[in-house]
Amino acid sequence: MTLDKRNLYRFSWSMNDNPIAWLEITDICNIHCEGCYRQHMTGHKPLEQVKDEILFFKRWRNPDNVSIAGGEPLIHPQIVDIVAFIAQNGIKPIILTNALALKPDLLRELKKAGLAGFTIHIDSQQNRPHWKDKTERELNELRQQCADMVAAEGGLYVIFNSTVYPSTFHEIPDVVRWGQANIDRVHGLVFITYRTATTNVNVARDYADRQVDFGQLSYVRESFGEKFVTAPEVYQAIKDTCPEYEPSGYLGGSIRHDSYKWLAGAGIGSRKRMYGSVGKKTMELAQAGHHMLKGTYLAYLSTAKVGRQVFWLSPWDATVRGAAGNWFKDVIRHPARLFESLYIQSIGIIQAPDLLPDGRADMCDSCPDMTVYDGKLINSCRMDEYRLFGGFLSVVAREKVEETADVPR
Ligand code: SF4
Repeated sequence: MTLDKRNLYRFSWSMNDNPIAWLEITDICNIHCEGCYRQHMTGHKPLEQVKDEILFFKRWRNPDNVSIAGGEPLIHPQIVDIVAFIAQNGIKPIILTNALALKPDLLRELKKAGLAGFTIHIDSQQNRPHWKDKTERELNELRQQCADMVAAEGGLYVIFNSTVYPSTFHEIPDVVRWGQANIDRVHGLVFITYRTATTNVNVARDYADRQVDFGQLSYVRESFGEKFVTAPEVYQAIKDTCPEYEPSGYLGGSIRHDSYKWLAGAGIGSRKRMYGSVGKKTMELAQAGHHMLKGTYLAYLSTAKVGRQVFWLSPWDATVRGAAGNWFKDVIRHPARLFESLYIQSIGIIQAPDLLPDGRADMCDSCPDMTVYDGKLINSCRMDEYRLFGGFLSVVAREKVEETADVPR
């Protein structure tokens, strides 16, 4: 199927009613990732401030989960108290981590405090001790160790994120295949396309139209000569590896009508094979149903072993019907598969902000990863512009500016 917004459910999330609240509890990290948006400026936030931010999200965001991010949240000395406070407020705490500090004892404590799950970021452009210069395929060994550790504790959700660079794009199939072989313990994969701005071809202006040195931002480089990977290209790479994969929901761009900023799909399969995906109607039903029954939209399923139950939606959803048909034919050929567990595994694609020629950035419409800064909700991927320059910058081509004035390099 060609990617077409008409075949996808547009998530009805908004600034004030969004399943995700992005809580940053520290800007300190124990490794350095090439694609990171955050730099160390202030350190760990005090617990009282973190609690205030959680209550702010509860009031203004109506989240189903709080994504506890950073920096590296596991190195915050009060991470267990933070998880407990979120859970006590009736929200699912999810930790976004590089997993370097993740050990079985801490895992147990976090689960006891009410943790719902992890999103673990592993990719080959991280300055990770003992895992430098590894390919994505080699890093599957590390992903496996983490997935096994979380599965051994039980009852926790785990998703694996990776940033996709032009140089690692061709390795997406290795990660997809690994994820599918571990569908009983890996609940989802997310691919985030790398973006950067560059000082050799751009200049930046702040909210007062002053030119600023935006090279201070961690997501700005001097130059970048490669072509950025797009969400439709990642979609195609996944589809070539796993033809059963089909996204069912999306978020578009805040400016461009044709961009795919978030693409979300949920595959149905067993450890042996994938049978298909859920379609637009099931995604819509899951979102609307969750909102009607629980009052919030949904980002993380609390259990993944529901593949068989989803087949009951076959009469309404042709995509699910196709998956059920594939499963049925497979069971006829291999009757023992009738007794195998069927799981749902999500695959998400995020295309990070794109700079437009007029200086604006095409962001994710209804950004799910908004954080709180100085009493306001802002896109977390650009928070350092607020921290360094007091607001978002506009970035324009240096040659355009040089036509009218002398600009120092
Ligand atoms: S706009 Fe929001 S969802 Fe998109 S990359 Fe930035 S923070 Fe993440």
